[in-house]
Amino acid sequence: MKKIKQSMILNMEIKKIAEKLDLNELKEAYVESYKNLRAYHISTYQNFYEAIKEIQYPEYDNLKREDINWYPQIDYKKCINCKECINFCPKGVYTLKNDTVIVEYPYSCVINCTGCVSHACNFGAISFPKKIKKTIDI
Ligand code: SF4
Ligand code: SF4
Repeated sequence: MKKIKQSMILNMEIKKIAEKLDLNELKEAYVESYKNLRAYHISTYQNFYEAIKEIQYPEYDNLKREDINWYPQIDYKKCINCKECINFCPKGVYTLKNDTVIVEYPYSCVINCTGCVSHACNFGAISFPKKIKKTIDI
């Protein structure tokens, strides 16, 4: 989780610096290459989802990921279907179904991350269970 946070912060900082220096071409090239890398990462996670569900976590008494019920839920009374959570989540947890954002890959969610709540959803539509005490450093 520490590494994911660091890469998100680095990504935001690079974009900010390029903006400050008015290096639009650099910014656009960076955003494009990051988008491609991200798309590849997400498709890998989605393609191997059945295997991801089977991963065991020593930090949680060797429970399988699919036995740890920690993942986002969307409150559709608040959600405006802006799709920012899809654009943000590096694990591809959210997808579109019939043009509605859904949590399609809950067990790909990084336990205790909550990045989509703090950095993507401006409508308070995403919730999680309480953070689990032990954290996993991936
Ligand atoms: S907390 Fe949100 S951003 Fe982080 S992995 Fe889970 S769904 Fe993705
Ligand atoms: S970011 Fe929030 S409001 Fe936008 S689609 Fe996702 S859950 Fe809905």
